[in-house]
Amino acid sequence: MFENLTDRLSRTLRNISGRGRLTEENIKETLREVRIALLEADVALKVVHDFVNRVKETAVGHEVNKSLTPGQEFVKIVKKELIAQMGGVNNALNLATQPPAVLLMVGLQGAGKTTSAAKFGKFLKEKYKKKVLLVSADVYRPAALKQLEVLATSAGIDCFPADAIGKPLDIVNQALKQAKLKFYDALIVDTAGFLHIDKEMMSEIKQVHAAINPIETLFVVDAMTGQDAANIAKVFHEALPLTGIVLTKVDGDARGGAALSIRQVTGKPIKFLGMGEKTEALEPFHPDRVASRILGMGDMLSLIEDIETQGNHEQAKKLANKVKKGDKFDLTDFLEQLKQMRKMGGMASILTKLPGVGQLPENVKWQMEDKFFIRMEAIINSMTVKERAKPEIIKGSRKRRIALGSGVQVQDVNRLLKKFDEMQRMIKKLKKGGIVKMMHTMKGMDNVEFR
Ligand code: GDP
Ligand code: MG
Repeated sequence: MFENLTDRLSRTLRNISGRGRLTEENIKETLREVRIALLEADVALKVVHDFVNRVKETAVGHEVNKSLTPGQEFVKIVKKELIAQMGGVNNALNLATQPPAVLLMVGLQGAGKTTSAAKFGKFLKEKYKKKVLLVSADVYRPAALKQLEVLATSAGIDCFPADAIGKPLDIVNQALKQAKLKFYDALIVDTAGFLHIDKEMMSEIKQVHAAINPIETLFVVDAMTGQDAANIAKVFHEALPLTGIVLTKVDGDARGGAALSIRQVTGKPIKFLGMGEKTEALEPFHPDRVASRILGMGDMLSLIEDIETQGNHEQAKKLANKVKKGDKFDLTDFLEQLKQMRKMGGMASILTKLPGVGQLPENVKWQMEDKFFIRMEAIINSMTVKERAKPEIIKGSRKRRIALGSGVQVQDVNRLLKKFDEMQRMIKKLKKGGIVKMMHTMKGMDNVEFR
């Protein structure tokens, strides 16, 4: 996500030298670099211009905090402006209406409407415990109806059985009736995409909008369209009262132009990010967290949420209880923790969210995941129950046997035992909360960096 922008900004922002105040002189070169970085990220020209001016106005004459370098002080200012640029705060979905709350997905073809409709279904079902009905009004491509159905089924959500001979307006009216009749909390309406902005399609979607009166009209747009995303959103907004934007395919977008332009060009908030093809790859958009990511500070808060939703709660609780009771944290627990981390998308996915890790070369990240991780599990698997419970008995001959059994060197076994020892010490310090608490502690560290 936004790697190019992050690389460029984190390189240039380190270059500010001098002490005391930030002056026009000592930020001039860096400001120029920021400008270029934003243009390269495909941020709209006017947005770049305004942004750079705001940063300059704030920065010049700004007193540098004694404990910071001017570079750090400048980063703080840039971060604050980035947050403001993206709307400041998170805008949650509005569901405050007489049920069913209707969500309408609009946007160009291929933007990710159908995928996002299913993602929202899952999100509302799991986070808000809502009973959700999905419906597709994309009658132009029979495959599109099927696509939503398949996604809905895999996410365990009901899908209104639309058929390709119906008219979009009839379909949505029927679906809404059904949703009321069967007490659904939310109805998510997927629509046909246009290849271009098309008058007829636009009038159709206006009719659909009028018929179902959605509380959320979400414009879905592919982040990789860069600043064009903002322009397309503007055209849609002139036809329909959009309530928010879903920026998709952010996982593949190295530039970040859309995220920075859309708010200013449309006046509408980005509410969610699509981070992958799977139905769980939906993240609420938090300007502060994204700004941190852009500046290479990692994203502790998202990480914590990942852990909280995807991590095994039961397991975490059990561990927390163990720690509280003063029971020993043994290698079996350690193995569980490793597995849990793997469930969260592996070490590489966790690592990229940690401060400073954004810059690790791809192959190193990959190695972290593969060698380090899978090996550790293999090593523990080769231990006897007794060894797992009492690692201190693992000496020379046992080490050799374990190494042989798991196809690694004795040093690897040593390394694992050392890691385990560190982990055990860390766990001891925690009164409760297991890994989540540990991440909270790390989040604290993240803030210290820029205070
Ligand atoms: P629609 O025409 O607007 O309904 O778009 P679809 O939902 O059919 O999505 C078009 C393609 O983009 C599909 O192959 C999706 O799997 C893919 N896609 C959608 N959202 C994302 C995302 O957030 N990340 C990635 N990598 N792919 C996505
Ligand atoms: Mg579709």
